[in-house]
Amino acid sequence: MSMDLTFLGTGSAYPSPHRGASALVLRTEGECWLFDCGEGTQTQLMKSQLKASRITKVFISHLHGDHLFGLPGLLCTVALNCSPSPAQAPACVDIYGPRGLRRFLRVALELSGSQLPFPYAVHELEPTADQCPPEGWPSPPPAASPADDRLHPQERPGRNIPLDPAEECYALLEDERFVVLAFRLFHRLPSFGFCVQERERPGRLKTQLLRDLGVKPGPIYGRLKNGETVTLESGRVVTPEEVLEEAIPGRKVCVLGDCSAPVGEAPLRLCRGADVLVHEATLADGHRERAVEHGHSTPGMAAAVARACRPRRLVLSHFSQRYRPPGLAKEGEGEDDVAELGRQAEEALRGTGVEVVLAEDFLTLPIPIKKPH
Ligand SMILES: [Zn+2]
Ligand SMILES: [Zn+2]
Repeated sequence: MSMDLTFLGTGSAYPSPHRGASALVLRTEGECWLFDCGEGTQTQLMKSQLKASRITKVFISHLHGDHLFGLPGLLCTVALNCSPSPAQAPACVDIYGPRGLRRFLRVALELSGSQLPFPYAVHELEPTADQCPPEGWPSPPPAASPADDRLHPQERPGRNIPLDPAEECYALLEDERFVVLAFRLFHRLPSFGFCVQERERPGRLKTQLLRDLGVKPGPIYGRLKNGETVTLESGRVVTPEEVLEEAIPGRKVCVLGDCSAPVGEAPLRLCRGADVLVHEATLADGHRERAVEHGHSTPGMAAAVARACRPRRLVLSHFSQRYRPPGLAKEGEGEDDVAELGRQAEEALRGTGVEVVLAEDFLTLPIPIKKPH
């Protein structure tokens, strides 16, 4: 199954002609999952190779405008989650994000008199007070918006998802292909990271061996592949272990929202060994104090996280708009060269084998299938 990550916006604070506001898409066969939706995401989508109609799920890391202001517009003008056959009613679009997101969308859609061509549900993560400075924590904390109270006409009841205190994470969804968890980050507003873990898949069938055993291609192949033990007409018992190659490990993609630090142990644990770790690097290491003051990270700080959890690739994104994309830097702006951010992370990761990638708008990163252990 193919899988890739496309960056639609890699700038912090606001969209500029050089960098869109935060948004990226994880694409697997037939489905697109959108992570953050800054202002202008729908135009970025149109410029990309992706089909907005394939978006089935949206994940919002935190409620700052540069990650959220594009969402009402995207929902209103793009028919998400459309089935290829027009006769079939569109399925529900699931939106995950911090508490408050349900109310934000409801008010934006209601006051603008917007109707959507598809149903949606907002599943809210309940933050904890240690995810932000006191001024970022609304007082009194907003009550969870009732999931079923005054729903927008296209809204379906969503879940309120509390922190699992034992695992220190949030269980967002589980299906036959993926498990998606969220974890806490420290920022000026409560922020979250997302861990998408693909499930391990059974290895290939040893077809020669099956033929030797006298098993003909057919439904038995499927049963064996699904882990079932099968008894042949001859009475011979065939177990999946003897006819399947080694299982194919699942891929792991971790996307972190804005942060100056992870909260608790869970983020490093969940991101361990990720194929891709997307981490913000808003300002260069020389501006560390200012970055931290605003709840942000530098390449060195992102590298420290990567050093602890050893992803295969660390992707830096969410750059201050002062860092122009390569080729667009103005004369005499040497220190604002985005390549310098990459060098700083590489320096901090020397000897670890972690590859550093600088995200750019419209960069697509394939995530290859893993080899069996
Ligand atoms: Zn931001
Ligand atoms: Zn932010």
